[in-house]
Amino acid sequence: MSTNGSVFDRARALFLHYAEPLDLERRYPGLELHKRLTSPDKIIAVRLSLQKDDGTIRVYDAFRVQFNDDLGPYKGGLRFHPQVTLDEVQALAFWMYIKTAVVNIPFGGAKGGITVDYKSLSLAEKERLTKKFAIVLANDIGENTDIPAPDVNTGPREMAWMSHAWRMTRGRYHRGMVTGKPLHLGGSEGRVEATGHGCATTLLEAARDQGVDPHGAKLVVQGFGNAGRYAAVELAKRGAKLIIASDSRAAIHNPDGLDVDALIAFKDRTGSVAGFPGSRPIDPGEVFVAPCDFLVPAALEDCITAEIAPKIQAKIIAEAANGPTTQDAVHILFKRGITVVPDVLANAGGVTVSYFEWVQNRQEYYWTRDEVIDRMNARLANAYRQIADRAKEEKTSLRQAAYQCAIERVVRAALERGAQ
Ligand code: NAD
Repeated sequence: MSTNGSVFDRARALFLHYAEPLDLERRYPGLELHKRLTSPDKIIAVRLSLQKDDGTIRVYDAFRVQFNDDLGPYKGGLRFHPQVTLDEVQALAFWMYIKTAVVNIPFGGAKGGITVDYKSLSLAEKERLTKKFAIVLANDIGENTDIPAPDVNTGPREMAWMSHAWRMTRGRYHRGMVTGKPLHLGGSEGRVEATGHGCATTLLEAARDQGVDPHGAKLVVQGFGNAGRYAAVELAKRGAKLIIASDSRAAIHNPDGLDVDALIAFKDRTGSVAGFPGSRPIDPGEVFVAPCDFLVPAALEDCITAEIAPKIQAKIIAEAANGPTTQDAVHILFKRGITVVPDVLANAGGVTVSYFEWVQNRQEYYWTRDEVIDRMNARLANAYRQIADRAKEEKTSLRQAAYQCAIERVVRAALERGAQ
């Protein structure tokens, strides 16, 4: 399997690798299923002009890739970042449709972005640019067609702007045309902590399968941001001991356990875990290889490499981040018998609660936080069970089983509706 080429090429190669045992081309000849499943339905590439506060005009490239809607309307985030490329957006849209199929929610996959140094814009410029994007996309997005959500550098504020601009353009209201909105504009309770919480849920299921008692288990979290901290909160509630936490500035250690709530408050106040009372700084290179039971990578992609994988001592890894493990490392960890709950399952709590937000918007009836979290946990635990049973039966990894379950669901829908 190729590890060279663009991000999208690698995503495609990965898909074909995991699809191989399903033998789709032989079982369904003459349908070009591989091509159909690995190329996007529609690519929207536009130029966005923005009038700056000083009256000058700047021009930005923007994209929305609608990859696959066999299982339901397209769904996926919007990324506003200088490094956004069409290639990256295609890869992210591709992974989105796998992820929604893994957790069996009635969505397809999409992604969008603007190639812009968003943080350098004034507030008014940010609002104009976001609303312009919503207006340009107005006929392609909507509650029954394609539902954007936040991603890098976008959040509830941008979703509120999108929703307003879309309503003014289309002349009708539907809160469900975006998710990740502020609570008072139709957002869902539980969305903020959903990804970390879901990661903890799937990790605990894996621990039960492996006979690892979470009580007293040593936990390491790389990337103590949104996903990492809420995974730590839930695992600490089950008795796990957070011994190492890191962020982009520092890594800290306390063999007796870091107080998770106090660490969150400290990081919110100071901007980093560095200098947390009672901890000692360690080399960031030690984070992945420290003796522990549970390891949660929750920062960036490609950080567990073939060099690091042989030294990892954790019993279970749950990938809160997207793509934290390189493909070479995936094989090494599998051979070493280390359980890895893959990103497409471990971080799917976020999109699952986005789905619940959309459901609540359609009925205009809102659930409590406990209702949202309970339903999310049930869905993720159920998805984990199906995937783990399949992995056991076929003596394969959770990742391979997750991809196979997802691909089969999409193929079934595509064939039943007719592949035209
Ligand atoms: P975040 O910005 O809140 O947190 C990321 C954390 O990682 C920050 O604390 C940052 O300092 C730290 N970090 C950055 N570089 C690091 C490094 N080299 N070493 C250690 N720490 C480093 O982001 P987030 O929303 O928690 O997202 C984290 C990951 O989870 C990303 O891969 C994201 O795609 C994935 N994810 C998040 C969600 C969600 O709902 N938040 C959903 C799905 C996937």
